[in-house]
Amino acid sequence: IININSLSVSFNNKSVLKDIDLNIIKNKITAIIGPSGCGKSTLLKTLNYMTYEDQFANINGDILFNKINIKEIPKEDLRRRIGLVFQNPTPFPISIYKNMVYGPVYYGKKDKKSLNILVEEKLKISGLYDEVKEDLNASALKLSGGQQQRLCIARALSVEPEVILLDEPCSSLDLKNTANIEKMLKNLSDDYTIIIVTHNLSQAKRISDYTAFILNGELIEYGETQELFTKPKDERTQEYIDGIF
Ligand code: ATP
Ligand code: MG
Repeated sequence: IININSLSVSFNNKSVLKDIDLNIIKNKITAIIGPSGCGKSTLLKTLNYMTYEDQFANINGDILFNKINIKEIPKEDLRRRIGLVFQNPTPFPISIYKNMVYGPVYYGKKDKKSLNILVEEKLKISGLYDEVKEDLNASALKLSGGQQQRLCIARALSVEPEVILLDEPCSSLDLKNTANIEKMLKNLSDDYTIIIVTHNLSQAKRISDYTAFILNGELIEYGETQELFTKPKDERTQEYIDGIF
């Protein structure tokens, strides 16, 4: 669904991604792993066009989305279709309901009834509906950290994207909330293409179909998750899995 061809990104002549080739497969979960600072967030931001707007960024290579160069897709359209959930996202300081309808209303959906249906549906997929249905008008900031994180994912789903980019969605969560998010992502992968950046290698192993390992901006290895973790082709992948760096 996404083809990344010889993508290089640098900021002020500091090279951050180097000649990345990567084909993201539709309706699968792809994990991006690698040490801090290797360029994972930059890769997600480039897929969503954010780095193209950075005046200090210099980008070479192409990204195709359903065979169309993303530079030819209107930005609003691209962002609706490829949603990005940031590292440590917070909901807007408005009600749960308003968080959920913000995107759809922005993109022109006005009918109250269909908005209500959409809110219920997306909160249900996120496993949050039963926890919040009594009071959708409560402030989103009153939710627990794990609930806020799930709300941010539900909010990203509210505009019906095709691809969801998640940057460390479980970084500040306990085991139970992490398990909730993992279950949710597994359910989502029937209908959505998911790319998840994670530091947690056992999480990558548990939930992803494919894994890409990046080191110093270079894609060292990419393949089926089982293969990559059990029989890595590059010794640097083995070292990373073994916790050497
Ligand atoms: P972490 O695991 O810590 O989140 P990461 O792999 O996501 O790290 P990035 O955030 O992509 O790493 O950053 C990679 C490098 O690019 C870092 O050295 C960072 O300082 C640099 N960088 C990222 N964004 C910018 C920017 N907008 N301007 C300048 N440098 C940047
Ligand atoms: Mg990051």
